[in-house]
Amino acid sequence: MLKYIVTLLLLLMTWPVLAQEEAKAPLQIVATTTQATDLTTIIVGDLLNSDVILTPLMGAGVDPHLYQPKERDIAAMSDADVIVYMGLNLEGRFGELFESLAAQDTRIIALSQPVKDNGFTIGGFNLSEEFTNVDDPHFWFDPRNWQLSAQFLADSLSQIDPNNELTYQANAAAYVAQLDTLYQWAVGAVETIPETKRILITSHDAFQYFGIAFGFQVRGLQGISTAAEAGVGDVQELADFVVENQIPVMFVESSVPPTTIEAVKDAVRAQGGTVDVGIRPLYSDAMDSVGTFGGTYVGMIASNIITILQSFDESIADWPNDLSPEPPTDLLESAAINT
Ligand SMILES: [Zn+2]
Repeated sequence: MLKYIVTLLLLLMTWPVLAQEEAKAPLQIVATTTQATDLTTIIVGDLLNSDVILTPLMGAGVDPHLYQPKERDIAAMSDADVIVYMGLNLEGRFGELFESLAAQDTRIIALSQPVKDNGFTIGGFNLSEEFTNVDDPHFWFDPRNWQLSAQFLADSLSQIDPNNELTYQANAAAYVAQLDTLYQWAVGAVETIPETKRILITSHDAFQYFGIAFGFQVRGLQGISTAAEAGVGDVQELADFVVENQIPVMFVESSVPPTTIEAVKDAVRAQGGTVDVGIRPLYSDAMDSVGTFGGTYVGMIASNIITILQSFDESIADWPNDLSPEPPTDLLESAAINT
């Protein structure tokens, strides 16, 4: 009898706690691009799959400028509490969808927001005139911008889910420090390339912020969106630039077909010039698969730096002890392919 009373008492005591726990459903977050998914995973940390459920939309190598939301994406976004996206019109075909979701009280976080608020948009830099009035959406390519995004995401999630504020803030602080280390390593690593040789030619204009961060002059064949196609005139103009400046190497991007850069290469050859294509594609608007080095933001930036250095036949600075993930050996040792 006494046993039953004790059990009953225990049940009564824990009932309000159990009821409260049951009422608290996990926070449903949808992230659009591979970069947004990576950053959300890091800021959420150990809360993933318990307090937070994360649904990524785009996979490796997918071009966000052209990505058309699928039916299942729209369903996931309709069910979500929070959507994390890049903004500045990178996800060019999501505009109306976001408007209707905002109307039904979904919290929509643009990772570019703090960058824009801080004046880091392309208009703030002395760049070619045609872009000065356009916000360049490739803001993540300066790790100092991505630090702002990390802190902004942690602050936004802390507001939405105050119970887990300490976790979000601690994860952001640790990651901001990692990005600092990454930035310092990358700046030091490119110093081996003489300044006059630091010209980066790519398929589309995704590398303006990367150029600002690491001291490269950049030229893209297509504009800041892949939606604008390159014409014959653009190909010829870029080929002339390559020949005049004796540029040894150009780069294709993992999320853009290589045909346009191949056309420039042919046009350079037609003029009697020579130019190589980088030993592997650069990551621009999409990272690699989850679980790979290039599938992380740190790995994406580092891979690009390593690919550029190897393509320019330069050696690679030692990797910092406290920066993870570490570049895989096969990536570091593949310089020989270039010869
Ligand atoms: Zn782009």
